[in-house]
Amino acid sequence: MADQLPDLSILRRCWPTYADESSTHPVMVNGDRIGGERPVVIAGPCAVESYEQTLAIARIVVAAGGKLLRGGVFKPRTNPHSFQGLREEGLEILAEVRRQTGIGIVTEVMDPRLVELVADTADMIQVGSRSMQSFPLLTEVGRTSKPILLKRGWSATLEEWLGAAEYIAMEGNRDIVLCERGIRASCHSDYARNVLDLNIIEPVRKATPLPIIVDPSHATGQWNLVAALSRASLAAGAHGLLIEVVQDGADRGQLLSDGEQGVPREVLEEIMDDAKQTRVPIPGAVPTS
Ligand code: PEP
Ligand code: MN
Repeated sequence: MADQLPDLSILRRCWPTYADESSTHPVMVNGDRIGGERPVVIAGPCAVESYEQTLAIARIVVAAGGKLLRGGVFKPRTNPHSFQGLREEGLEILAEVRRQTGIGIVTEVMDPRLVELVADTADMIQVGSRSMQSFPLLTEVGRTSKPILLKRGWSATLEEWLGAAEYIAMEGNRDIVLCERGIRASCHSDYARNVLDLNIIEPVRKATPLPIIVDPSHATGQWNLVAALSRASLAAGAHGLLIEVVQDGADRGQLLSDGEQGVPREVLEEIMDDAKQTRVPIPGAVPTS
């Protein structure tokens, strides 16, 4: 497969079907079209902590109009003593939640040896920020037929990010969605987790037909900032959002990861309502209303 494809051009505008800068390669996941006219919202807990928690959050997402649940079962944690995810048991929980609700499953894989296992359950496979340049992992997920959510490394340039996507595409899988999740700068750590780089959306859309979504949850680290930055992301041309959600009445202090950034049900509903009323703009076009 790989040698039939032109070098370093698979994902660029020289992919002939998408020569026109306003065209996008739509990626279908569980009936949602990422890269279509309307933004798609993927939402869920940071980590799958139990069947009850995951089912409750899946029901919140479905009630808000969502079709895709993102929940981590292999968690990339800074501290090796932190909760690492429920792993195989977590995959079983996700599969059961899908059976119960019909929701599509998005979940992360970090280890190339586990790609096949995760692909058996996931409708979309996430490659996280820390793994963006894990080349053996990119190659392995490129060999699956599942759509890939490729998060931007927190200090990756546009070229490095597109290069990572190219590794996946080289194996034959072009169903890739890019996800901006905030970058590191030297001056923000006393007030926010990361800096949300909305500047990159338009250059990405001009450079590649791949859709791009935004994760304001990891960018801010604070749930009360997420709705405003979701609107900003859609205005800047994102094809969708990735939003962390908490269960009704959750005690944030008890959550095993990212307790401060998950939005409650009402905020998710507000974000989804905004998204339903938004048309994804053409890159570089000046909004008229
Ligand atoms: C996540 O999506 O839960 C996550 C760990 O994000 P990131 O890889 O962007 O830090
Ligand atoms: Mn998280």
